[in-house]
Amino acid sequence: MSLALEQRGDQRVEPALVRFELLHVDATTGARRGRLSTPHGTIETPIFMPVGTAGSVKAVAPDDLRALEAQIILGNTYHLMLRPGEELIGALGGLHRFISWERPLLTDSGGFQVYSLAEKRKITEEGATFQSHLDGAKHLLSPERSIEIQETLGADIIMAFDECPPSMSERGYLEPSLARTTRWLSRCVSAWSRSRSSLFGIVQGGLHEDLRKRHAEEICAVDLPGYALGGFAVGEAPAQMHAGVAFTAPLLPKDKPRYLMGVGTPLDLVTCVGSGVDMFDCVMPTRNARNGFLFTSQGKLVIKHARYAKDERPLDPVCSCYTCKNFSRAYLRHLFIAGELVAMRLNTLHNLQFYLSLMRDARAAIEQDRYADFMKAFAARSATVADAEH
Ligand SMILES: [Zn+2]
Repeated sequence: MSLALEQRGDQRVEPALVRFELLHVDATTGARRGRLSTPHGTIETPIFMPVGTAGSVKAVAPDDLRALEAQIILGNTYHLMLRPGEELIGALGGLHRFISWERPLLTDSGGFQVYSLAEKRKITEEGATFQSHLDGAKHLLSPERSIEIQETLGADIIMAFDECPPSMSERGYLEPSLARTTRWLSRCVSAWSRSRSSLFGIVQGGLHEDLRKRHAEEICAVDLPGYALGGFAVGEAPAQMHAGVAFTAPLLPKDKPRYLMGVGTPLDLVTCVGSGVDMFDCVMPTRNARNGFLFTSQGKLVIKHARYAKDERPLDPVCSCYTCKNFSRAYLRHLFIAGELVAMRLNTLHNLQFYLSLMRDARAAIEQDRYADFMKAFAARSATVADAEH
């Protein structure tokens, strides 16, 4: 299928479907250094993808993201289908043009938000019916409809429509859910027609190893440009999540990108890279930034605290972001307390820089076969500074 799609594709030099090159595997862990080519440019992996929920990474603009060297961002199908609607975005040239972002884009299937945000949702074989959290209007999201919306938006990577059950779900609930997600993948593949949007399948299975294994076999039996791990960081303890990812990631094809959806903390990223995950997304750095929770090399920093009132130091002495190069903690605290809008931008720039440079450091460590030491040092530092404010 992929060959036919490429031959039918347009004349641009960039590949139509994404193509993954596995450059190096760390000598002593499962960490992988890779390169993902897309129609809108190349992504060096492992990578963190900032979340642009409704067509915007909250509080920052595309020039900020370019300055941070963000390689790819996400858009949420659920939010964009409800407002402003995919037809409008499509009519205006697609999501890249609409939001003025010329680099790679990924859209999710909408399923996760239907399960977490929408009201009166009902899941049937056909799909999920729900009421919009905005105005109560009734919608159906099915495999076909999700792919149609995502193709209209025109992202480089689109996700299969799945069900994401709570991680602690009983086997009796999970088994029929997994079987349906597998059937839904077949329908997604049948509906998938756009050569410049690459479809990734999603492996579910909760915390049951046998179910994860069986579902990975079912999903990976379909030849797709990439595969994702879904259903993690949805209520289980971090150690359970790390163990589940460590078990499941190696079951996915070595020559395809592996995307861990919705994860996580800096320690989650560092740990799961060690298990062979290539791509991550999470609202944590951006959401925490807007709430004044900042990640630093010395631990977390809650900017509203009085101890920073006269603190002339940057948020993080080793950070090279615009915020740390120009502003003191005292000023950032003042902006936050005063409710100045720029506080959100400056905090977001810093937290995104923290995540993106963490992945840069991870890539360098993998290339030099020292990822085990990198991971150990990061975990030790996280343990000592986890709750220590500085
Ligand atoms: Zn900074």
